[in-house]
Amino acid sequence: MLRYVIANWKMHGTLINNETFISAMAAYKPTGVEVGICVPAPYLFQLQQLCEGTECFWGAQDVSEHFEGAYTGEISVDMLQDFNTRYVIIGHSERRQYHAESSGTVARKLDRVMQTPNDRLVPIVCIGEHLSERQDGEVEAVLSEQLDPVISVLKLHPNRLALVAYEPVWAIGTGVVATPAEVVETHTWIAKYLYSSLAREVPLLYGGSVKADNAGILIDLPHVNGFLVGGASLKAETFKPLLDKCAI
Ligand code: PEP
Repeated sequence: MLRYVIANWKMHGTLINNETFISAMAAYKPTGVEVGICVPAPYLFQLQQLCEGTECFWGAQDVSEHFEGAYTGEISVDMLQDFNTRYVIIGHSERRQYHAESSGTVARKLDRVMQTPNDRLVPIVCIGEHLSERQDGEVEAVLSEQLDPVISVLKLHPNRLALVAYEPVWAIGTGVVATPAEVVETHTWIAKYLYSSLAREVPLLYGGSVKADNAGILIDLPHVNGFLVGGASLKAETFKPLLDKCAI
């Protein structure tokens, strides 16, 4: 299966820094890996200009569940498509935590993306538990609550590509990466859970403090089809060595 390594720049970037990053990435294509850079929405046009025709795809970090209308500050699927956006992150834990996004909202956003007539826009649905939930043995209960509405939407669109990113909240931006055993156990559970409802494989990304020095071990684990990367994706000097570790 193709590997996906998706950068999540969060609220970072400037026109100048973005250009430096992309020029350092130019003509760089790790074998067997699709690379996406999810940028703040104001930079989608710039990324389109810099990346179109290269092997590097660009993406957004959120999208509205609505088609259009009086939703100040929101960005629609059609707007993303105006910039040939390839990826869109949905339900990142920072959106669930700071913007009170429920699993229902996440599913409605997913449905909106999946209703686009072509398959150019690929959603990356994030799920993950908090540390206290893991300590209390609630990982599967939390993940199934997050996955169930997503599965209902995916069932309606059997031929559309969608990625799921498992991002334990306690590993995001903390430098504490999940152990290989934790990743295997959780990804295996997620893969089986999805397969039992959808009868198809959904590519699974891991996210949470992935860096060049742990990517090589994690990428070879079962049911790990790539990464969603925050901090280590902000500079080409740290992102390219990580990508090298993912090349087949
Ligand atoms: C993320 O924000 O999705 C993420 C995984 O961040 P980091 O790699 O910095 O932990």
